[in-house]
This record gives sequence, structure tokens and C-alpha cells, in this order.
Amino acid sequence: MIEILDTTLRDGEQTPGVSFTTQEKVEIAQRLDALGVNYIEAGVPAMGKVEAQAIREIVALGLKAKVVAWNRAALGDLEASLATGAKVLHLSLPVSDQLIEGKLGWNKGEVLAQQRRCLEFLAYEGVEVSVGAEDSTRANPEFLLDYAQQAEALGAVRVRFCDTLGLLDPFGLVDFFQPLVQKLKTKAEIHSHNDFGMATANGLAAVRAGFQVIDTTVLGLGERAGNAPLEETAMVLRYHLHQEGLKTEGLKDLARFVALAAGRAIPVNKSVIGEEIFCHESGIHADGVLKDPKNYEPYAPEWVGAQRQIVIGKHSGRRALRYKLESLGLTAGFEIGELLDRVRALATAKKSVLSDLDLIHLGRP
Ligand SMILES: [Zn+2]
Repeated sequence: MIEILDTTLRDGEQTPGVSFTTQEKVEIAQRLDALGVNYIEAGVPAMGKVEAQAIREIVALGLKAKVVAWNRAALGDLEASLATGAKVLHLSLPVSDQLIEGKLGWNKGEVLAQQRRCLEFLAYEGVEVSVGAEDSTRANPEFLLDYAQQAEALGAVRVRFCDTLGLLDPFGLVDFFQPLVQKLKTKAEIHSHNDFGMATANGLAAVRAGFQVIDTTVLGLGERAGNAPLEETAMVLRYHLHQEGLKTEGLKDLARFVALAAGRAIPVNKSVIGEEIFCHESGIHADGVLKDPKNYEPYAPEWVGAQRQIVIGKHSGRRALRYKLESLGLTAGFEIGELLDRVRALATAKKSVLSDLDLIHLGRP
């Protein structure tokens, strides 16, 4: 069973310009839980009182999902997390030379020592701990293995490998991670960014490489081009991996709620949640769908809480037009071929599909 760790409330909120209120965070957490994600990364307690309070409230909800508090690998941050009552803590350190030297000014030995210090500090706190390896994809594979195996030996139950800059492609991901993941006893978690538009595909590739947990955010929110979108990943689990368990019917509602809270528009053709992905206009497709939806729909709209629409526009054919007119109660008094000419002329002039009112007007004898 592949698990989902959703980090909309942490990585997603790091999107420039995105900020959720505590109430919105609580509601997003409840909706994620209802959808059936396994972990909800709720935020960074060290960021301050307001953030810590939001995490405290989410922890207190008693959700089915595990609520994760995110930390830099620093004892003060971990103390702030423990104070929220969180029972699952994640701590992160960079593992590439680029970030170890270029960001921290440390060496690899210091990274291992700090990881050890943090894990020993948490050893008797009765919390579940996971360890993150920031910028894994630019790290030396041998060091990455040392880092992961030390975390494992010191009690971490999951190791998060981060494609922090979204550099990997699905094939490269399998080549790079498979030998590493095979050597681990803990769960391996993939955190993919979407800089080349491959985050969702990289999640699927990660499953092939032996990972058990995929990180997501709703709408793919997150730094730069964002993370693997929850909606796409959930559908990949359902459709491509035949995995039951997630209530994908709630995806569209969840996406709308988060879009509103984040001040982000959802493109109409966005995979899984776009308003028009089950909207058929062209004669061939509309005719095919009216005969059998399986002709031109990959899965039923109900799977994602959407509805099929047949719209009338420049590319419509007779069958769809007749269907639409009948659904509007217009059943007689017109010649369909002649009406279709007028529909096409109007749609071309308007540069859009026709509204029901347009059709009623045109269809009147
Ligand atoms: Zn990230």
C-alpha cells in the first residue's frame, strides 16, 4: 500500500504569496483526512506562536491521519514541535555538497553529527521521527546511504529523499534511488518538486524504485513550480496502481477550497480537477461520448466529483446539437443542418461555446 504525505500546509504554504489562516488550515486538514491521506504535514512550529497554535489545533482534532510537525535539525525547533503535542516529528538536513557547504558552511561529518544529536535528543520523547535528506538528487550516493542508515539505526521510521530542485526524470530516479532504497529497512519517502513538470511521474517511478510514501500538495502548491499535486497522485494510485482507499470523489471540492484559500485560479484544463476536463464539444468526441462515455473519457467524472458536459460550439455535430436542444425542451420546428450552420456562425463570431440562452434563441421556430 503506497501512502500519501500531504504537505500543503507546510511546503504548499511556502509558495510566495500564499498564506492560510488558522481556520483555513484546520479545515484543509479535516478535508485531507476525509480524503484518506496517511500523513498531514501541518507546519513548522519554530516559525512562531501563530503557526504553533495552528498545529496544536490540528493535532487536537484527533484525525485518522498522522499529523507531522516539520523541523530544521536544531534542538530549539524540536522543542517547539514537542510543545505542540505533535506525535510525529520530521527533521531535515541538507545532504548535497552544494547545500552543506554553500548554505550551511559545514562538512559531511558535521551533518551526520547534527542528525545524531537530534535523534538522540528525541529518543525518549515517545514520538515517531522521520528524517529528511534535502537535495538528495545532487548528493553523493554513498553519503546519502550513510545518512539514511544512520537515521535508521537511531530510530527514524521514515527517510524522506527530496528532489529539492525537481531535477530528476522518472528513469533517472529509478536508476539513482533503487539501489539505495533496497538497502533500507525503514520506509522510503519521495518528495518531488515540479520544475520540469515531472513531479507526478516521478512519484510513480518512485514506487517502482521501492518507495512506500509519496509527498504531495493540493494544486501542486509549493516553492517555485511546486510539488507533486495531490489530485494527480491520488488518481495515479487509483487508476495506474489500482489502489483503493482514497476518496478521490472529494478531490474537486478540496481543490476548490484550497484554491480559494490560496488565492489561486485552477486552469480549466488542469488534470483531474479542471472545470472543463469532462466537457465535450467537437462533433466526433461528443457523438462518441453520447454513444458510450468510455469512448472518450479515461475514467468516469464521478471518480473525481465532476460532471460530464456536452457543450455546443464551432466544432459541434448534429447528434450533440440535437441532444442539447432536446435537453432544453426544444424538440421540433427546426431543420438541424440549417441550425448547425447558424450555431457555427454564432460560435465563430463569439469565439466561445454557446450558452443555453443562445441555443433557445436560435432553436426557436
Ligand atoms: Zn519541498
